[in-house]
Amino acid sequence: MSVLYTCEICGKECEGHFNSRYCPECRGEVIRSTHKESQEKRRAKRKTKTSEGAKPMTLGQIAAKARRLHMSYGEFVAKYGI
Ligand SMILES: [Zn+2]
Repeated sequence: MSVLYTCEICGKECEGHFNSRYCPECRGEVIRSTHKESQEKRRAKRKTKTSEGAKPMTLGQIAAKARRLHMSYGEFVAKYGI
């Protein structure tokens, strides 16, 4: 079902879905900018997460964990990439 709508950004009249708010060109821009925004947000989030918690384990802690899992230190490091 196609209807005429006016692009909220450039004001161009377009034919498309009645829910459409932007013309195809502007929609592309909007998607690109929101995508970029969310990527930046995600990156910022990850940054705070690593700086706040997840203290790096000491060698002794890694060795103890490996022992608990019946692995050698080398195996443990290879598997979990620490
Ligand atoms: Zn437009």
